[in-house]
Amino acid sequence: MARCYNFCAGPAALPEAVLEQARDEMLDWGGKGLSVMEMSHRSAEVVGITERAEATLRELLGISDDYAVLFVQGGASTQFSAVPLNLGYANATADYVNTGQWSKKAIAEASRFLDVNVVASSADSNFSSIPPQSEWQTNDGAAYLHYTPNETIGGVEFFWTPEGSVPLVADMSSTILSRPTDVSRFGVIYAGAQKNIGPAGLTLVIVRRDLLGNANPLTPSMLDWKLAADNESMYNTPPTYSIYLAGLVFEWLRKQGGLDAMERVNRRKAEKLYAAIDDSEFYSSPVEVPSRSLMNVAFTLADAELDKPFLVEADAAGLLNLKGHRSVGGMRASIYNAVTEAAVDALIGFMQDFAKRNG
Ligand SMILES: *Cc1c(COP(=O)(O)O)cnc(C)c1O
Repeated sequence: MARCYNFCAGPAALPEAVLEQARDEMLDWGGKGLSVMEMSHRSAEVVGITERAEATLRELLGISDDYAVLFVQGGASTQFSAVPLNLGYANATADYVNTGQWSKKAIAEASRFLDVNVVASSADSNFSSIPPQSEWQTNDGAAYLHYTPNETIGGVEFFWTPEGSVPLVADMSSTILSRPTDVSRFGVIYAGAQKNIGPAGLTLVIVRRDLLGNANPLTPSMLDWKLAADNESMYNTPPTYSIYLAGLVFEWLRKQGGLDAMERVNRRKAEKLYAAIDDSEFYSSPVEVPSRSLMNVAFTLADAELDKPFLVEADAAGLLNLKGHRSVGGMRASIYNAVTEAAVDALIGFMQDFAKRNG
């Protein structure tokens, strides 16, 4: 069996050690004679798996008891409506920063429920930069301020946390756990699992408890964070197997040395890939240097005619899923926690060889 290097933006690579453990435990978890997939979510086993996953996540991110940790479903896209429904009832205006495709989707969905004030946009730079906070037109009366710390499609990342008097809400789908985060700066953090946490089907919501209990009365029960918190994420059947795998990933992160250690590796991986792009005449990055994502590296070839052969040859070399998002074109290498430095080295070697043969 030959495993390829997977640069997919999501669902993305998982740590090989985690997949091996899941394989070993597939038919019989903990001597119980059942797969985790076959167990009741109310069983002591699954409740224990869920509690351990939450505890390890709290340890990794330093999440205090002031915050509830929710394991829900529906992806980050469902949270685009859950956020205004849970936070925007008493006060029907909210501030949003527009830095790209995922910001735009969050804004469009929130606009169905309240008045959205777009406080800043990087549309003028074709979403290749982050507008400095000194230029934002924020409102002290807004219910919350929403932003997207890492735009997965454009490859643009914030390396600072916005300030403000209203609760800060972040869609961290593609940057969570890639480096340490001061959770106490946020009202709400949410993330789809399939980038940097585990398999698809699980969505993580971290919410400051004082923000619970003010949902719009029309909020569907399944989107009500307080109901999820009061029921320890077991109001209905949660995605038990995804929670189990996420828990294995959290334990794997702890074994790697936690998020400080992940940040060191992730910076090294990104720096060498951007350096290979910048050092060549053949490749270029569309993103301004200070905002280049550590997780999603977008780049273009000098001649778009070569995109197809690049992808075909990369595939043949076992380097998968490098095609950029259909909305922006070019290439994108997603180098999440589970993508090893060896994978990045192999990609750089391939890129240099391809440029030599085609430049
Ligand atoms: C992938 C992604 C989403 C969408 O996630 P789903 O789980 O598919 O709904 C939203 N925001 C960001 C930043 C993403 O990377």
